[in-house]
Amino acid sequence: MSSEPRERMIEALCAPDLAPIVDLVVWVDDGTPYAANHVGRVRLHDDGPAEVLAGASPLGSEDPMAFLPYERELADPSPRVSTDNAYPLAAPRLRSFFADPDRSPDLAVVHTPRHFFPEQGGHVGEHGSLDVIQSRAPLVLSGAGVPRSGCVDSYARLVDVGPTLAHLAGVPDDDLVDADGRALDGRVLTEHLDAGGTRTHVIGILWDGAHCGDLLHLAEAGELPGVARLVEHGLALRGGVVAEFPSITLTNHTAILTGVGPGRHGVMGNVYYDRATGERVVPNNQATWHRSADWLRPGARTVFEMVAAHVRADGLRTACVDEAIDRGADYATMALIRDSGESGTDALDDALPDPTTSPYLCNPAFLDDSYFRWGVRVDDLGLTQMLDLYADPAAAPLLTWWANVVTDCGHHGGGPRSEMARDALRQSDARLVTFLDHLDSLGITDDVTFLLTADHGFEGSHPDVTGSWTAALDAVGVPYRDEGPGLVYLL
Ligand SMILES: [Zn+2]
Repeated sequence: MSSEPRERMIEALCAPDLAPIVDLVVWVDDGTPYAANHVGRVRLHDDGPAEVLAGASPLGSEDPMAFLPYERELADPSPRVSTDNAYPLAAPRLRSFFADPDRSPDLAVVHTPRHFFPEQGGHVGEHGSLDVIQSRAPLVLSGAGVPRSGCVDSYARLVDVGPTLAHLAGVPDDDLVDADGRALDGRVLTEHLDAGGTRTHVIGILWDGAHCGDLLHLAEAGELPGVARLVEHGLALRGGVVAEFPSITLTNHTAILTGVGPGRHGVMGNVYYDRATGERVVPNNQATWHRSADWLRPGARTVFEMVAAHVRADGLRTACVDEAIDRGADYATMALIRDSGESGTDALDDALPDPTTSPYLCNPAFLDDSYFRWGVRVDDLGLTQMLDLYADPAAAPLLTWWANVVTDCGHHGGGPRSEMARDALRQSDARLVTFLDHLDSLGITDDVTFLLTADHGFEGSHPDVTGSWTAALDAVGVPYRDEGPGLVYLL
């Protein structure tokens, strides 16, 4: 047995008795990514299958199109063992996650989809895994300059969303670079756009945690008429867009809006440790949301900054509604909070409407869940901002980013396909329909290009699959921090 501390921790985490909660242990050594669990250990490659180093491969597959069509996911939701699961683009995603010298952990523990850990912040529905369903966000492109292809059997990456939005807003492809002039990790999805298509406005819409398979299923069943309308006037990718690892909110909002992975933008999760400052960073929180630009690495550049460098306009070039990653936007909700002089939580709370009178809420019983209640309020305020921004189309921003949160609340609270998750999808769709009707009344809908996505997917935990790996790590006798939990830093 190796005496190297990390190796001893890996071996402790790969103990068979932890198999119900430890899906994978992952790490990078000299730029090479590895994965292990009780089944065996592999070295990962960008092209070609993982190379078995011991035992058998713990990875069922690396297919980004796994569990499609949706019936296959329904037949085996939240796979019990990793050999029945899929881990798309594992090598490049892990290489990025472990590339930050101060903020990347020494290893990461991936929870099994069924792991239920409420005592450490876990929910009925969860995300964060390397696996395909928690990493699969929807992608719908629609409107001006988008071919009417309908549902397409393909996939892309979440880091492609930012470059595609910037391209649609007129940034030349040569200038889709970071602050250091380096090419982005993502690329423009030109294969899903008409060559030479034109538009007056671009609107990117994020439904946080909106489950790709269920979103398309409900749209096809007639239950999400707004999404269905966007797909009818464009296309949706069946395989969605693959999130960066971990499939956590702020890591992926940042990846979307900078076009680079966490190893370059620096936001390793909703909570992580920074060795350089000795600080535990919690960027995804009502009190700190408006400060998240403080944590971006200097090389990161937002799509709002890319557009601002190229577009000359008297009025608003870009707007960023209810989104933490807003640096460089001409209009930003979080800027109103930064400028208010109040704490982030207080300033946001003062601005939010009464959820009990929301015309978009379907079942008032869900307001008993405090996160869901907050999400209804945030999203009602978001729609108000969108209608205000588009009160006069001549003054509307060229590029608008519109983040919605209640879909995350509903999926955390009830798990995918629950009534709470579907209530959240239906009310988000109803807000979208209100906004599309407003554009119709102005006669400009056909001049707009829309992109609808999310930051991650969701799987349902199982109430009987509980426990923690803390005792196993403690027994190794090496000082460490475990943030998340799952991001393990040796001290
Ligand atoms: Zn999220």
